Amino acid sequence: MAVDTKLYELLQVQVTATAAEIKKAYRKLALRLHPDKNPGNHEAADQFKEVTGAYEILIDEEKRSIYDQFGLEGLSGGGAGAGAADDLFSQFFGGGMFGGGPRRPRGPQRSKDIVHAIKVTLADLYNGKTSKMSLKRTVTCTACAGRGGKEGSVTSCKGCGGSGVKVMARQMGPMIQQFQTVCNDCQGAGEIMKEKDRCTVCKGKKTVQESKMLEVHIDKGMRNGQRITFEGEGDSGPNLLAGDVVFVIEEQPNAVFERRGNDLITHVELDLITALAGGSFDVQQLDGEWYHINIPEGTVIKPGDTKLLPDKGMPVQRLHSYGNMIIMFDIKFPETGYTGADADTLRKLLPPAKRLSVSPDAAEEVELIDVDPSSIPNDSAMDDDDEDGYARPEGVQCASQ
Ligand SMILES: [Zn+2]
Ligand SMILES: [Zn+2]
Repeated sequence: MAVDTKLYELLQVQVTATAAEIKKAYRKLALRLHPDKNPGNHEAADQFKEVTGAYEILIDEEKRSIYDQFGLEGLSGGGAGAGAADDLFSQFFGGGMFGGGPRRPRGPQRSKDIVHAIKVTLADLYNGKTSKMSLKRTVTCTACAGRGGKEGSVTSCKGCGGSGVKVMARQMGPMIQQFQTVCNDCQGAGEIMKEKDRCTVCKGKKTVQESKMLEVHIDKGMRNGQRITFEGEGDSGPNLLAGDVVFVIEEQPNAVFERRGNDLITHVELDLITALAGGSFDVQQLDGEWYHINIPEGTVIKPGDTKLLPDKGMPVQRLHSYGNMIIMFDIKFPETGYTGADADTLRKLLPPAKRLSVSPDAAEEVELIDVDPSSIPNDSAMDDDDEDGYARPEGVQCASQ
């Protein structure tokens, strides 16, 4: 039922009036009050303005429903109230006294969206997943229907007329300055309630905390930073429309794969013999499946070589397609002192060495000494950890796995 019936009274209709009845009532009043029929009559002009403003709200289904629920203040806040409603607001709430200064935004504002990060593994994004998320939110207390106390126990504050603010006047030299201040009778609440009448459930706060379970569907192929929105699941209250609950996907790093767009990048270490003579290796997909990959004899894989497995990357959301899997090869060389073929056998097997020495007579003989690479002073950003895994420029790879 309507909390405020002023506009209906202005148009002299019932709160249950149909659009046709409202139109008829307005036409009758407008004919009588129109400025053309009342030249110089300011009272009639003001009345005409008020009646027109009331009509413009009540004839608009959306505005009428906001007005019915929240009164005129509802229309002044969220930008729903066009000129007519704002004019009316000024007239009823005295905003006009302040020379069009900033109006206090009240009425049914939307609560802020509640944003949660949802940590998701790369496997979850590959396979899809439904997560149950429990969240706490504020809702109107049902025990007191958002009144905060027994019916009738809440009265509009007389000190401020229910607006929560008082208008004070101050003498400033020859001028009287008016200003608003928070009402000290009701501490700005606009209403007053006896302690003993307070709702025992919400303790007069009008709202209570509620737990709600939301099922968050992680679609196959979703990406880091993508938002999943639950409309109207945010906090609400007697004079507050619920905002949204938003889950933002936070992709967790994976030990095996790095994601770049729809592609999955992985490093595979081959033994030198496999790199030279061929062989096979296996890769486990994010759904647990294994791929068996052959390197045919005669194919040489060099350190840093990159190969591609078509359509073995990430699923593309809502499409029945996949990105690619990109394999970057690292080659494991035997350690010094390995026992195997002797040097002469290797020289016979492998392509001949390019002669590296150019001036053997003039050159000084220098010995190679082992060194820990991390002990070498480094003033460049060579070991820059690219945290997101996306910024690594082409050609810069992990030196070792
Ligand atoms: Zn007050
Ligand atoms: Zn309550």
